[in-house]
Amino acid sequence: MVYVSTRGGAQADAPEAILRGIASDGGLFVDPALGREAFDWRLCLQKDALGIQTMLLSHLLPGLGGMDELVRKAYTGKFESDELTPLVKVGGDYVLELFHGPTSAFKDVALSMLPQLVSAARAERGETGECVVLTATSGDTGKAALEGFHDVPGTRIFVFFPHEGVSAVQRAQMVTQEGANVTVCAVRGNFDDCQRGVKQAFAALADDAALAARHQALTSANSINIGRLAPQLGYYFIAYARLLREGRISLGDPVDYVVPTGNFGDILAGWMAKQLGLPVGRLICASNANRVLTDFFESGVYDRRRDFFRTASPSMDILVSSNLERLLYYVSGGDCALVRSCMEQLSKQGFYRFPEELMAKLRREFSACCCTDAEGAETIGALWREEGYLCDPHTAVAVRAAQAFRQSGRSDAPLVILSTASPYKFPGAVLGAIGAQAEGDEFAQMEALAALTGVPMPRGLAALREKRVLHRDVIGIDEMIPYIQKKLSEVS
Ligand SMILES: *Cc1c(COP(=O)(O)O)cnc(C)c1O
Repeated sequence: MVYVSTRGGAQADAPEAILRGIASDGGLFVDPALGREAFDWRLCLQKDALGIQTMLLSHLLPGLGGMDELVRKAYTGKFESDELTPLVKVGGDYVLELFHGPTSAFKDVALSMLPQLVSAARAERGETGECVVLTATSGDTGKAALEGFHDVPGTRIFVFFPHEGVSAVQRAQMVTQEGANVTVCAVRGNFDDCQRGVKQAFAALADDAALAARHQALTSANSINIGRLAPQLGYYFIAYARLLREGRISLGDPVDYVVPTGNFGDILAGWMAKQLGLPVGRLICASNANRVLTDFFESGVYDRRRDFFRTASPSMDILVSSNLERLLYYVSGGDCALVRSCMEQLSKQGFYRFPEELMAKLRREFSACCCTDAEGAETIGALWREEGYLCDPHTAVAVRAAQAFRQSGRSDAPLVILSTASPYKFPGAVLGAIGAQAEGDEFAQMEALAALTGVPMPRGLAALREKRVLHRDVIGIDEMIPYIQKKLSEVS
């Protein structure tokens, strides 16, 4: 199998695509034959969670030996349940809890796996230098990547986060990270600035002589990396298998999934699962007040020229959703010239219009919906009062979208709502939403939330308060590249 760039200018096998992260022409690596190679999705549904991951990853990332061993190393002992992502019935729908990994965010599912994939890819290609992982984070990717990569031999990890754009818990998780190969740095800007800076660093440092002399090569832990995206298909299968086992559906019945969306990685994984045969019905793209994707699905115009809102769901505060590029590639039948032109327009003019006949195709598979912070808070409160279920502000956006979708009467298939973070990561917002006072710092708020609701607090979060701050750097948007160069010239 060969991966190609969405913009047509590069190709790589799976190990190389993982190690490079992003294609040299700025595009994202995609498998042009996705869904056309034989994949026994029925067999896949009979396996347990690790078996599902092994089968999917062997299919999507051929050329990496011993996948079952890699999967076992990635997950064993790190998640609260063997199921990895438990499914909970809430009202008439299902909530798929993706946040039971080491950092209490859904990104753990992929970022527990990625270091194993990177190490295997390095071994496969006989690489002996240093693999430098560059990461931009809106809050959760950073910690999950740090947790995965700290002290992994042959790697070094950089995490850039928006200085004032993450919650106090998210910040504490990152700036207390230990490990000799770890750099954590705040950037005076928002997530889009961090992500642009990282993409520019890839371009600027691709042929950097100093890096080459030190045998340092860059890769990405963001969902632009196919090695980060591929492990995310698993839980769409895990949820479907669970519904089958419980007799709530028959094999082949469609199931709709609602996904709280930022960079479009999570929901794209659902669409890819569908290409492999999983009977996914509709995919509902749920956004917060940064409703660029809702507008795109409605109007066919992707327009980032708008006010950026800091919301109660910061991991979704994104105006440039990178992974949409992969969907545009697939839905246009691999029209790289079209994708390149759209991405150029987005970068130069701030918007593009996607052809109407292709939008019609997209609308047959996707719905989109957005809500404000006030509506999200109302949803958290109502769900707690009526169902006794506590959800975080990101999940609330999806619950709200699920309700709107139900009311539209478009489908009566079972609905799975992806829950992407523990409510304890955003205790102030959650307390306020259930009608309690949010007093003191976030750690006091976590305790108040536990006392009030009795929902167990994740262990990793409870321990944070005692940890020492190890990372204090704050830089401007334009300083990212020199900062990386300087840090890489120092011995780790
Ligand atoms: C990253 C994240 C999202 C958005 O996922 P994408 O793959 O970027 O669309 C949603 N919720 C939480 C809590 C996240 O950390």
